[in-house]
Amino acid sequence: MDQYAVFGNPIAHSKSPFIHAMFAAQTKQLLNYEAILAPLDGFEETARQFFAAGGKGANVTVPFKEQAFDLADELSEQARLAGSVNTLMSNKGKLFGDNTDGIGLVRDLQFHHVELKGKRILLLGAGGAARGVILPLLRQSPHRLHIANRTAEKASALALQFSEYGDITGSGLETVPDQAFDVIINASSSGLSGERPNIAATTLHSQTTCYDMLYGKAQTPFNQWAEYHGAAVLLDGLGMLVEQAAQSFSLWRSVQPDTSAVRQALRRHLYAQDGSR
Ligand code: NDP
Repeated sequence: MDQYAVFGNPIAHSKSPFIHAMFAAQTKQLLNYEAILAPLDGFEETARQFFAAGGKGANVTVPFKEQAFDLADELSEQARLAGSVNTLMSNKGKLFGDNTDGIGLVRDLQFHHVELKGKRILLLGAGGAARGVILPLLRQSPHRLHIANRTAEKASALALQFSEYGDITGSGLETVPDQAFDVIINASSSGLSGERPNIAATTLHSQTTCYDMLYGKAQTPFNQWAEYHGAAVLLDGLGMLVEQAAQSFSLWRSVQPDTSAVRQALRRHLYAQDGSR
């Protein structure tokens, strides 16, 4: 049976085996997908062993996405620009690396009928998750993409790096341009410590969609803030998780799974036990 895996540390709470088992059953693909805990100093060795033993493909999560980027022999444009890889595929003895997080986010926004073309988008954070979504967001032709980060220099550097792909600017959180945005995406990890990026409520208007990449049983601190200030639509990152997995699955198996049933099942699963990716 074809073998797939997700590597991370920690990994016990990963939802990826659940998601991929559902995709496999739905598309009648015969495969096994397991969660593998790689030692913090042993990702490369663990991954190489897996592929040497015939592993077909793998997902990579925190904290190994940058190491997976270094490990890959070939990269998609998206992975190259993001500097991180969340999907590996064995291809004629070489390892192909891709980053499906950005496609996952865009597909989730499309699933919820959130228009990006011609819109003002504010992206909060400049870490791995933010880097992974910039190119797919710019490919949707927004009016402008502004990146704001706690450490302003990182946001400015990213804006410069991606400037040839669209209208993109960067700043610190406290110096976000004084205007309302149509879509605000929280790609910072502030919610993991019960916080939210400290931006002004004037960045919101009554039609704004607020999206937090974090998800969980309870509403995230960022979405609580957005709801309080009257955002029109509140979304969390559960759909992004499912959609990025679907993109990995279709890369490996050349078949596109239907994500609707998996979204519903995962939401139920989350309410039953909680945790994160
Ligand atoms: P990183 O560690 O790479 O980056 C963290 C970012 O958050 C940095 O920009 C950092 O700013 C910022 N930050 C951290 N704490 C705060 C705070 N208190 N206030 C403001 N900004 C803060 O993390 P990732 O990019 O990998 O992940 C970010 C989030 O996205 C996580 O919550 C993760 O769970 C989620 N995620 C969800 C996915 C999904 O499929 N739903 C996929 C991938 C990620 P600074 O540069 O100043 O340190």
